[in-house]
Amino acid sequence: MEVAPLLKSSAAAATLFNSGEAKFALRVSSSLVSCRRIGFGRQNASFIIWPVLFARPLTTDLPHGCGGSESKRRARGPVMAAAKKASDGGIKEEGKYKHTVDLPKTTFGMRANAVVREPEIQKLWEENQVFKRVSDRNTGRSFVLHDGPPYANGSLHMGHALNKILKDIINRYKLLRNYRVNFVPGWDCHGLPIELKVLQSMDEDTRRELKPLKLREKAAKFAKNTVNIQMNSFKRFGVWADWDAPYLTLFPEYEAAQIEVFGKMALKGYIYRGRKPVHWSPSSRTALAEAELEYPEGHISKSIYATFKIISSSSASPQLVEEFLPDLYLAIWTTTPWTIPANAAVAVNPELEYVVAELHHAPEDVTAPLRKQTKVGGFLKFSDTKCFVIVASELVPALESKWGVKFAVHKIFPGSCLENFRYAHPISGKECPVVLGGDYITTESGTGLVHTAPGHGQEDYITGIKYGLPIISPVDDEGKFTEEAGEFNGLEVLGAGNVAIVKYLDEQLSLVLEEPYKHKYPYDWRTKKPTIFRATEQWFASVDGFRDMAMDAIGKVNWIPTQAKNRIVAMTASRSDWCISRQRTWGVPIPVFYHVHSKEPLISEETIAHVKDIVSKKGSDAWWYMSTEDLLPEKYRQNASEYYKGTDTMDVWFDSGSSWAAVLGKRDGLCFPADLYLEGSDQHRGWFQSSLLTSIAATGIAPYSCVVTHGFVLDEKGMKMSKSLGNVVDPDVVISGGKNTKDQPGYGADVLRLWVSSVDYTGDVLIGPQILRQMSDMYRKLRGTLRFLLSNLHDWNLENTVSYTKLPKIDQYALYQLGNIVETIKDNYELYQFYKIYQIIQRFTIVDLSNFYLDVAKDRLYVGGTTSLNRRSCQTVLAEHLISIVSVIAPILPHLAEDVWQYLPFEYATEDGSAAKFAFEIKWPVPNKRWLQMPADDVDFWSLILELRSEVNKILENARVGKLIGSSLEAKVYLHSSDAGVASRLQELCLAENEADALHRIFITSQVEVLDSLNTDLSTRMPHTGKYSDPRSEIWIGVARADGSKCERCWNYTTQVGSFPEHPTLCARCYDVINIHPLPAAAGVS
Ligand SMILES: [Zn+2]
Repeated sequence: MEVAPLLKSSAAAATLFNSGEAKFALRVSSSLVSCRRIGFGRQNASFIIWPVLFARPLTTDLPHGCGGSESKRRARGPVMAAAKKASDGGIKEEGKYKHTVDLPKTTFGMRANAVVREPEIQKLWEENQVFKRVSDRNTGRSFVLHDGPPYANGSLHMGHALNKILKDIINRYKLLRNYRVNFVPGWDCHGLPIELKVLQSMDEDTRRELKPLKLREKAAKFAKNTVNIQMNSFKRFGVWADWDAPYLTLFPEYEAAQIEVFGKMALKGYIYRGRKPVHWSPSSRTALAEAELEYPEGHISKSIYATFKIISSSSASPQLVEEFLPDLYLAIWTTTPWTIPANAAVAVNPELEYVVAELHHAPEDVTAPLRKQTKVGGFLKFSDTKCFVIVASELVPALESKWGVKFAVHKIFPGSCLENFRYAHPISGKECPVVLGGDYITTESGTGLVHTAPGHGQEDYITGIKYGLPIISPVDDEGKFTEEAGEFNGLEVLGAGNVAIVKYLDEQLSLVLEEPYKHKYPYDWRTKKPTIFRATEQWFASVDGFRDMAMDAIGKVNWIPTQAKNRIVAMTASRSDWCISRQRTWGVPIPVFYHVHSKEPLISEETIAHVKDIVSKKGSDAWWYMSTEDLLPEKYRQNASEYYKGTDTMDVWFDSGSSWAAVLGKRDGLCFPADLYLEGSDQHRGWFQSSLLTSIAATGIAPYSCVVTHGFVLDEKGMKMSKSLGNVVDPDVVISGGKNTKDQPGYGADVLRLWVSSVDYTGDVLIGPQILRQMSDMYRKLRGTLRFLLSNLHDWNLENTVSYTKLPKIDQYALYQLGNIVETIKDNYELYQFYKIYQIIQRFTIVDLSNFYLDVAKDRLYVGGTTSLNRRSCQTVLAEHLISIVSVIAPILPHLAEDVWQYLPFEYATEDGSAAKFAFEIKWPVPNKRWLQMPADDVDFWSLILELRSEVNKILENARVGKLIGSSLEAKVYLHSSDAGVASRLQELCLAENEADALHRIFITSQVEVLDSLNTDLSTRMPHTGKYSDPRSEIWIGVARADGSKCERCWNYTTQVGSFPEHPTLCARCYDVINIHPLPAAAGVS
C-alpha cells in the first residue's frame, strides 16, 4: 500500500521515474535521483522538502487506501521542480515563474530521531513544569486516577509499560478536557521478595548474625534504589506524574495510615486471631495469600488408597453393618498421606449412595490393569481372610479396575446412614467419627469417603468446626513433623515424612495401593517450591463480617470490561477470611501486644492511636527498637511488664490495599473514592480486592468509582515471554535500542505508546519485532502528514483565517469530516477504547486525508497565489487539521505532538489569550458547530464525488497504461448521468464559483465536461470509459486527451494558453496570479 506522503519503496520510485514528471526531473537534474537513493533522512531541511511535492503522484485512491497496484499519475508543474532545483543550487535556466510558486517549508524533520529528541522534549516539559502548570490552570473538577503500586523489585517489563502508558493516555486526555489532574505514582516496598533478595546477598554467617533492624535497613535501601530505577524508566515512557512526591508503602505517613486502617477494622470487630489452616510455604517459612500462589503444570503427588477399620456403627442404624464386623473398613483416598497423623474424621456425602462390598482377590496373573507405577499395599497383598469395604456405589467399577479386584456388593444405603460410625485411627488407634461433609465430596475420583484433617484443609476445617473436631497440625514452620506426630517427629512432610507415613500404613496393612497422581498443586510464587496447608495462630480479617457490604459496593462500580464484574463478584463471594499476618521482618508490624501469661492479645483505641502516632513520626522501625513500655500508651504503661509486643508483620496486600487511606485520603488535590483504578486482570484477586475489602471494612464504601483491567503482554505468537524462550521484549530496548541497533533499533517512547493505543487491552495483547515495525511505519506516516501540514503553513497566521461561509464547498466538507472525526475520537477516549482511536487516526490522517484533500490541495497551495482566497481558504482548513490532529493524538503521542508544536509556524492562543507555548496548553478541540451542520444533501453529494473520483482514477490509470496520457493533467474527463438532478449538480461543480470546487481540480485533470447524451460520436469514440454506480445514481465516465496546450507554470492544459501576449505560456488562472503578485515573488524561494 502506497499512501504515505513519501516514497518508500524502490517499486514506487520506479513507477515515478517512468512517469513524465519524473522523466522531467531526471532530465533537469540527475542529482535528484541519487538524492532518492540515499534516502531523505540525512538531507538538510530545505533539501528534504522536495519529496513531499512529488509524493502524491502515487495514490491508490481506493476506499481507505486498500489495494495498491493501481498507482495513479499526478502532475505538478515544471516550475515547482525547477524551484526545487534552484533551492538545491542547481542551474536556473528553467522556471521563469518559479518565484511565484509557494513551496512548502519547514525545519520539522521527517525522521523523529526519537532517541535524542524525546529526552529533549521531556526536559522541556520538566523545566517548564508543564504538567503542573496545565493542571493548575484548568478550571474543571479534579480527575483522580489512583496508581496501583508496582513492586519495587527488579526492572520494568512490558506489562508495566502497558499499564503506566494506559494511565498516562487517560490522564493526558483529561488534562486536555480541562480537568485538574494530580497523578501520584506509588511503589509497594515491603514483603518477602525484597527480604529474600537482601538475605541472598549475604553469606550464611552474616545472615545468622543479622538483626531485624539491620535487615530492615538493607531492605529499605534496596527498595528505594529499585524505585529510582523504575521511576527513570516510567519517566522515559513519557508518563506525567508527581515524580517528586510519589507514595512508597515504607514511608512513615503511609505506614501510620495503614495502622489506622487496621485499627478501624479491629475496633469494628473485623479482625480476629485464630488457629486455622493457611497456605504455608515451608521454603519461605511464612503464610501465603492466595495471590502469592501459583499452580505449575506437571506437579505429581504420591496418592494412596487406604482403609480405616470400623469399630462400631451408629446408634441410629445399629443393624446396618453389624454382620460385617470386625472385617469392615472405610476406604479413603488422599494425595497428601503426610496429613494422616492429623486425621480427625472421615467425611461422606449424605446425598451419595454407598455400598458394603466384599473383596474378591483376582488371581495374580489377572491383576493386569494395575499400572506400572502403581504399588500394591499390604491390605491387598496379605489379607487373605474375608474383608469388606465401604465405598461410594458409583465408584465400584473404577475401583475394581484400579485395585485389580472384584467387589461383591452386599448392601446399599445413603451416606447419611454412616454418620457417627466409629473407626480406629490408622496410626494412633484412637476412635474417630464418620461425619457428613458437603458437596465437595464427589465421585469424580477417590472412594467417595474423604479423609478429614481440619488442621490441613479449608473444607476439612469447616467440617471440623461443625462437628467440634480437634484441629490437629503436627507440623512446624519448616514443614517438619513436630513431637505431636510421635515417631515421625523431625521428618519433612513433603519428603521423608510422606514416605514414612506410607510405609507405616503399608506395614499396618492399611495401605491398599500407592500411585503417582498428576494435579494442580499450589506453589510459592517466589521460591517455586510446593506449599502445604497448615493450621497456625494467625490474624484474620473476617470477610464474612462485611461480605454483603462488599458485594453491594461492587454493584455500584463501573467495571471495564463488563465481564470483569463477574470475576470480582465470584472471587469476593467465595473468598474465605483473609489471613493478614506474616512471620517476616520486612513489613508493617501488626500493632498488637500479648499478655505474658494468658497470651491474650491487646488491641484498643488507645494502643492503636499511640502506635500510629509513633510510626507516623519515626517509621515502623520503632516497633523493633522501642521497648514495649514505650510502645504502650499511658494507660497500660504501668503494667508494661505483663505484655510483650507481637512479631508478626502484615500481608503486603494489606499494605497496598490501604493506599486509598494513605494517599487518596491524605493528599491535597486527590479525592476518595478515586475516579479510576486501572491494573492487570490478575488484580481482581490482588489489589482491586484488597483495596475493596479494607475500604469497605473501614469506611463502608468502595475506594473507586470505575475499574479498568487489562490483559497480559505476550509475544507475537501469543506465547508467554520468558528468558529461556528468548522472546522477551524489553520496553527500555524498544525505546532506546538494543546492542545491535539494526535488529533492535531505538524506536522511541511514542512508537511504544502507539502500540499501547493499538491493542484491545481488555484481553491479552501481543508485541514483537514485526508488530513494532508496523507501529514505527504508522508513526512515520503520521509524522509525514503532520509535516506536510506544517510545511504548507509556513507563511500562515491566524489573521489569515477565512470565515466559514466564504470557504469553498470542498473545504466545508473537509471540516465536516474533521469535526466528525474529532467527536468520534472524543467518544472513544471517554470509553477508554484507544484501539478504535488508533484505527480512526490511521484511516483518517494517513489514508483518507492524504488520498483526497491533501492531494487536491497541492495545486491551490503551490500555484494558487500566495495570498489568494483559494490558497488562504485551503490553509485555513490545514491549520484546523493541524491543531485538531495534534490535540487528539497528544494523549497517545505526546512527544510527537509537542515536537510539532515547537515547530508551529504561527502563534496559537490559549483561552486566556496568551500564546500556547506547549501542545498541552491548548484545550481539546471543539469543532465549530457549523462544521457539523453541513446540509445532509451536500454531505451526500460530496461523498458521491469522492467515490466517483476513485472510479475516475481507475480509468485515468487505464488511459495512462494505454499511453493515451502521461500525467492525469493531460486528460479531460467526460461524465454523463441519466439522473437530471445529479447531472445538474455535476454541471454546477464544473462551473464552480470557487476555483477550488471545480470538478477538474478535484479530479486533478485539466478539464471535465458533463454530456447531455451518450448517443454522440464523441462518446462512442471515447478511448477509455467506465461506469460509476451506486443506489443513488449511475454515472458514465469517459477519458480523452485534454484540449489546448500546457501552461508552463501549472502544467494544466487549456485552450487559454497563448491568449495573453505578455505571458504567452500561461493559463488564465496563472495569468491572474501573476498579475496580482507581480514577479518576483519571494515566497518559497530561498
Ligand atoms: Zn497555469
